[in-house]
Amino acid sequence: MTLKTPAVGIDLGTTFSAIAHVDASGRPVTLMNSEGDRITPSVTFFEQKTAIVGKEALKAISTDASCIALCAKRDMGHKVFHQILGDKQYPPEVIEAFILNKLRLDAIQLIGDFSKVVITVPAYFDEVRRKATQDAGYMAGFEVLDIINEPTAAALAFGYQSGVLGQNTKQENVLVYDLGGGTFDVTIMQIRGNEYVTLATDGDVQLGGFDWDFRLLNFVADKFVQDFYVDPREDICARGKLWRECEDAKRTLSARMKTTITCDFKGFSKRVEITREEFEQITQDLLDRTRFTTMQTLRASGLEWDDISRVLLVGGSSRMPMVRNMLFQVTGREPDASAAADEAVALGAALHAQHILSVSEGNAPTFSIKNVNSHSLGVIGKDPTTGLARVGVLIPRNTHLPVRVSRTFRTQKNNQRSILVSIVEGESTSPENCTFIGSCVVRNLPPGLPAGTQINVTFQYTSDGRLYVNVTVPSTNTVVAEEFTHENNLPKQLLDGWREYISQVPPTDYQ
Ligand code: AMP
Repeated sequence: MTLKTPAVGIDLGTTFSAIAHVDASGRPVTLMNSEGDRITPSVTFFEQKTAIVGKEALKAISTDASCIALCAKRDMGHKVFHQILGDKQYPPEVIEAFILNKLRLDAIQLIGDFSKVVITVPAYFDEVRRKATQDAGYMAGFEVLDIINEPTAAALAFGYQSGVLGQNTKQENVLVYDLGGGTFDVTIMQIRGNEYVTLATDGDVQLGGFDWDFRLLNFVADKFVQDFYVDPREDICARGKLWRECEDAKRTLSARMKTTITCDFKGFSKRVEITREEFEQITQDLLDRTRFTTMQTLRASGLEWDDISRVLLVGGSSRMPMVRNMLFQVTGREPDASAAADEAVALGAALHAQHILSVSEGNAPTFSIKNVNSHSLGVIGKDPTTGLARVGVLIPRNTHLPVRVSRTFRTQKNNQRSILVSIVEGESTSPENCTFIGSCVVRNLPPGLPAGTQINVTFQYTSDGRLYVNVTVPSTNTVVAEEFTHENNLPKQLLDGWREYISQVPPTDYQ
C-alpha cells in the first residue's frame, strides 16, 4: 500500500536514538544518519552557536564535557537539565528536541521532506514525561502523530518480522524485557491475532546500561586512587573519557571473558584487568532489580510462567550474557533475541505511523493496540480523621486505556469562585512519594453558587497514556475548565520560541 505521507517512527533513546520509515515495498527500515550509522548517540554538544548531536558530540567528551549533555532523557519531567552547559541551563525536552532535529535533518536527505512522526516512550514514563516527549517532537519541527510505548513498538516489529502482524494467528503471551541505556521496562503483552494487548507493565526510569558503565568506572577509579591518591572522577573531562573506556569494555565483556581498561590522569596511568565474572559480581544488584520487577509484572498480569510463550529481548543492554542467563533461570525459556535490539523499537514506531496514516487515508485498520496506564492516578485530599494530606486513587495502574473516571467535589462556601484539584501519579497514599502531575485550578466558577454545590471533575487517560481533565458544574450546566496546568512542562509560548530557535541553530560547524 502506498501512502501519500511518509510513515516515520523514532526511538528517542537515553543513550542512542534511531529513526525508521516504511519503504515503498511496505518494509520498515532504519534510516542511516549523515555519518553512515543506523543509530545516533543521544549526545548533544553545545559549542558556541552550534548544537552538535551524535558521534562527534560523544567524541568531544574527553575535552569539552562541561558543554555536553548525556542522558537528557533521564531528566525528562524536571524543569531543567541537571548540568549547566557552557553558561546555560536547558529544559531536558529542549535537549531532546536538538537530538530529534538532527534525526529529522538527516532523514530528509534520504526520504525528502516530512513532518509527521510517531515517537516512542518507555512504558513506565509518567504523564509529565510523556507530555515532555511530545513537546520535544514539536520543538524539533515535527507533528507528533502519536507516542507509543517502546515494548509495544518492539512487539509490533517482532510481529512484522515473524509474519504475524495483521494476520489472524493464535493467541500468545509475550514478555518484553527492554533494558536500554538509561531505562528499564518490562511488559507482558497478549498478541491475539491482530490485537496487541498490554496486560501489565512496570519498570524503572533510572536503570539502564549507563548504571552498569558507572559500576565499571568506580571499579577502575577506586583502584587508581589506591595507587596514586588522585581521583579521575573529580575532573569532568577525565571522568567522561574513563566512562567511554568503560562503556567500550562493557561491550567487550559481552563477547569475551576478560578485558583491560586504561585510565590516564594527572600524568599517572593504570591498566586494570577485569573478568566477566567480576563485572557480574559488581553489578549483581542492578540485575536483581530487573529480575524482581520482571517477577512482579508477571504477578500483576495474572499469568504464570507456563502461560508465557516467548521472552523478547529488546534494548542494547539485553546483549549482556548475565541478562540472558538470569531470564533463562527465571522463566525457564531461552530468551528470543531475534528482534534487532537497537532498532526494533524504531521499526515498530514506523509501522505504527504507517497504520495511523493509512487509517486516516480511509483504509481499514490491520491491527489494533490496547495499552494500560503504568502508574495509578490519584488526587490529593485531606484525611477527615487525621487531617493529613492523602492520595485517593481514581484509576489504578494497569487499567486498560482509554479510560474515563469522574469524581464529585463540593464547594465549601457560598459564592466560592475557585477550586483546586492536585493530581498525582504513583502507588503510595502519601503525596510525597508520588509524582505531582499538575493542578487543575478552576478560577471561573459561576457566581452565586451556594456552599456544597456539586462540581464534577472528569479525568481521562487517552490510549497514549496522556491525561485530560474536564470540569463541569451540573446545576448550572457549565463546563469550566478544559485542561489542567502541567507542573513541569513548558508553556505553549516557550515551545513556539524554542521551535523557531532550534530550526535556526546549525547542527554542525560546517554549514
Ligand atoms: P539502546 O538504548 O537500546 O540503544 O541501548 C543502549 C545501551 O546498550 C548502552 O548502555 C550500551 O552500552 C548498551 N549496549 C549496546 N551493545 C551492548 C553489548 N554488546 N553489551 C553490553 N551492552 C551493550
